[in-house]
Amino acid sequence: MLYIVATPIGNLEDISARALRVLHEADLIAAEDTRTSGILLKKYEIQTRMTSFHAFSDSRKVDELLALLKDGRNIALITDAGTPGISDPGFLLVKAAREAGIEVCPIPGPSAFLTALSASGLPINHFLYLGFLPQKKGRQTLLKKLQEQEETVVFYESPHRLLKTLQQCVEYFPERTMVVARELTKIHEEFRSGKPAELYDYFSSKTVRGEFVLILAGKDYNANPRAEDRA
Ligand code: SAM
Repeated sequence: MLYIVATPIGNLEDISARALRVLHEADLIAAEDTRTSGILLKKYEIQTRMTSFHAFSDSRKVDELLALLKDGRNIALITDAGTPGISDPGFLLVKAAREAGIEVCPIPGPSAFLTALSASGLPINHFLYLGFLPQKKGRQTLLKKLQEQEETVVFYESPHRLLKTLQQCVEYFPERTMVVARELTKIHEEFRSGKPAELYDYFSSKTVRGEFVLILAGKDYNANPRAEDRA
């Protein structure tokens, strides 16, 4: 059995009892970064053997894990933070396991984009998750397309690209409400809401540090911000 186990996005208490049991009982934990995951496993006194499985792992690594699964071993896949496969490694292994007829069992838990959306104050019954925006090719086309997007849009951004992205939001969505969620579940957790220009001014006045989720209101939100989200 292949378990897809969500792990904390900052606060190490954010892990379910079931996830801890699965990690304890698995024959092997496939981790994106064994040193990062080692901190979590140490806290919960989990001594299961780890192997690394990251974005650059080739098909030989997938084959190696598949062979173990076919042999009846239980493997738990984890990443550095949040849900495997969400802007993280996982997809190819899950696909290969399913194609090989191996059972895949999800152990749900945190994901940064859902955590950010849940406390954003924007409508979230319908939303578009984009992961990281393309850095070059297709970026302008996508931003243009988002000008017509009715649903709330959520995406990830790295600290060193935050200001550039906010600047582009000023250009493409000057009147839209945005929320920047920083360092979720950690000591310096922060939610900042406003027009892109206000957010740009705020973040450019300090050293940009931490992990970020950006949320952009849908195109009609500002005309009718009290309208209830469609169920
Ligand atoms: N698999 C993860 C998930 O389920 O959310 C996402 C992994 S992706 C490689 C890492 C990005 O997620 C970071 O660059 C940041 O944009 C976002 N992220 C992860 N943890 C976060 C946190 N505690 N606060 C804000 N954003 C976070």
